[in-house]
Amino acid sequence: MSLLTAIQPAIPEERQIHLCWMVSNLCDFKCSYCAPSNHNGTVRGPNLEATYKFLDQFLEQTKKFNLVHVSFTGGEPTLWRPFKEVVQNLESRGVEIGLTTNGQRNINFWDGIAEKINWICLSFHTESADPDHFIKLISALETKTSVNVRVMMPPDATLWSRGYNLWKRLQQLDSSWGFFMEMVALEDEFGKPSMLRLYSTEQLAILKSERPRHSKVPQGVSPQNRKQVWTTREFYSDGTSQILNQPQLVLNNANKFRHWKCNAGTESIYIEGDGKIYKAGCKVDGVIGSIDQENFRLPVKQVICPKESCFCGTDIAIKKEFAEKKRWKFF
Ligand code: SF4
Ligand code: SF4
Repeated sequence: MSLLTAIQPAIPEERQIHLCWMVSNLCDFKCSYCAPSNHNGTVRGPNLEATYKFLDQFLEQTKKFNLVHVSFTGGEPTLWRPFKEVVQNLESRGVEIGLTTNGQRNINFWDGIAEKINWICLSFHTESADPDHFIKLISALETKTSVNVRVMMPPDATLWSRGYNLWKRLQQLDSSWGFFMEMVALEDEFGKPSMLRLYSTEQLAILKSERPRHSKVPQGVSPQNRKQVWTTREFYSDGTSQILNQPQLVLNNANKFRHWKCNAGTESIYIEGDGKIYKAGCKVDGVIGSIDQENFRLPVKQVICPKESCFCGTDIAIKKEFAEKKRWKFF
């Protein structure tokens, strides 16, 4: 049987670093599966001065990397006041930019900014999102950037059917549209205990069979108008590899990397709205600094994963490899 042995950049020797920044917990939705601390608006995020002070330090230390990637999450990160200005600044400095959004902003909001972002993850949250607006937004963005549509599929029957209806509509769109789409089962990514056990057998079968797919090769990543886009692959013991598929790893219970060597900290950091810095969203090893700190230094040592489960898509994508027991027990 072929075993998962590593998660790495498509070109393993290439050094990439990912700063994932939860810029605030402001959000215009209140999804029932989302912990209030992710959307109750108590943390409004750093101002421009504090943001640039930290980014200057970060970019100075990451010159040796082939690719520096900064992604924004929340809450709803587009509600963070300096959002557009920071995106423009990072783009002018050659940084690859990613964004996870609920897509609720009106279409005009994206004018002049979408093309500066390398990928936009549009999450469809079934309780509050308007499917018609959501599809119009995909149409507006898909020629400007790489669009990844994530359809949240809560186990509740009503919410499930709203997600499934959107999924079917997406499948019927003109094949000239360029975007990537995936169904997402809710796990404890949103701060609540695992919800996988709440799905019916039929729902689980659908989640496993509806593979992520491209409507066609995304226009947003064509060499003419985009820089490199961060890609990561799963590597197997038989020498094969495939593009990283986080939802399927979660569904197959394969997001378990306890005792693996993980580059959390050396090739990723995660910042919360209050400015505290961690090695990754899993908060392994606790707080390692804050954005207002003078002389913040990036960690230099890999971690041996102590966690039972790697629950968030960004964490799963951090470079990591299976470590032989005899190698890790001496750390
Ligand atoms: S899941 Fe996302 S969109 Fe929904 S309330 Fe939480 S932060 Fe907002
Ligand atoms: S849980 Fe944390 S330490 Fe473990 S593999 Fe995931 S990111 Fe790395």
